[in-house]
Amino acid sequence: RKVLSDLVAGIEPSPTEETSFLANSLKRQGVDVISFAQGEPDFDTPDYIKNAAIEAVQEGFTKYTDVPGILELREAVVQKLKRQNNLDYDVLEVLIGNGGKQLLYEVFATLCDPGDEVVIPTPCYVSYVDQIRLTGANAVFMPTQEVNKFRPRLEEVQKIWNPKVKVFVLNSPCNPTGAVFEEEEMRKIMDFLVEKETFVVTDEVYEYLLYNGAKHTSPAALDIRYKPWCVLVNSVSKTYAMTGWRVGYAAGPKEIIKGMNALQGHVTGNVNSIAQKAVVEALSGPQEDIVLMVGEYAQRKDYIVNRINSINGLSCIDPDGAFYIFANVKKLIGKTFGRERIKNDKDVAKFFLNVAHVAVVPGIAFGYEGYVRFVFAKSLDTIKEGLDRIEKAILRLE
Ligand code: PLP
Repeated sequence: RKVLSDLVAGIEPSPTEETSFLANSLKRQGVDVISFAQGEPDFDTPDYIKNAAIEAVQEGFTKYTDVPGILELREAVVQKLKRQNNLDYDVLEVLIGNGGKQLLYEVFATLCDPGDEVVIPTPCYVSYVDQIRLTGANAVFMPTQEVNKFRPRLEEVQKIWNPKVKVFVLNSPCNPTGAVFEEEEMRKIMDFLVEKETFVVTDEVYEYLLYNGAKHTSPAALDIRYKPWCVLVNSVSKTYAMTGWRVGYAAGPKEIIKGMNALQGHVTGNVNSIAQKAVVEALSGPQEDIVLMVGEYAQRKDYIVNRINSINGLSCIDPDGAFYIFANVKKLIGKTFGRERIKNDKDVAKFFLNVAHVAVVPGIAFGYEGYVRFVFAKSLDTIKEGLDRIEKAILRLE
């Protein structure tokens, strides 16, 4: 009897987790591995947020809540979107989910039928592709260019669009490139997509992590005509160092949110009641911790960018957002280590792991070859040590 459904047999385990798995097995053998693989802050969740959760437990706030989230939290999201993003949403247009990840899947599942196309600018976040696959729709890659700092251009969108395209994904700041889209180009792209009645999923989970004076714009806020076509997805994971709490939120047209809510109601129900209380505090409480964390990230970014560009065989652009470096490793491809020839970015990552004991994720995992991704949400000492090791290892290549 066939065991796995075609849909599940067709998805791949997350390559970021695969890299972490390889790194962890080396660690278990006693090897001191430095990992730049996992995309999460190295900071702890701020105390005022933790305290709100502790209070929730002590007060017995430990039962099912409404599936779309407690009203207090949805109201906090509405206010945050107004204050931070200049967006007016009603509580019925907001859904609380188990991280941005669940909400992204729910948007795709709510909007897509088998055969529909969803366009994703690449390099892209690893989960989009398999989430889209699980709906029966087709994920279509739209490669962006390093010379454009990996920002999508209108011509690229026009070229790839066809009547099967129902959804377009915009992720700014972008994982893995750190690209922050320029408002002017975003307007042009949105004008085109809205004219073609294409829905736009805007993944804004890195909105606060900005450098070099970059500004974040929510596409839905740019023009009154765009909002009915946009579903915004955000989460507290990266901004408040809350990856383990699993809370995200989506905002969009009532009909779409209602569909996502119906799906969520049958799969997970509400998000953990205690975590919801903590997130009310995260969104409504003091925001100074974010500024401190971003200041730290900015210093690390400057260091890692300079350092990578000083190593023979590596180069990178200076990212305007998120906490990733998408480093060009094309000059290492074709080189040899002993009898082993480096054929692609996967081999570069393997070489870094096995010889330098440094874990990075190969570009192919993000739908884009010739690069590897470093996470710089690590201490400066760790970043320095990791790059020292890589520099030394590269000298051994012929
Ligand atoms: N979107 C992007 C671009 C991400 O990089 C991530 C996490 O790495 C997510 C969404 C999902 O994050 P979470 O489910 O923790 O909110």
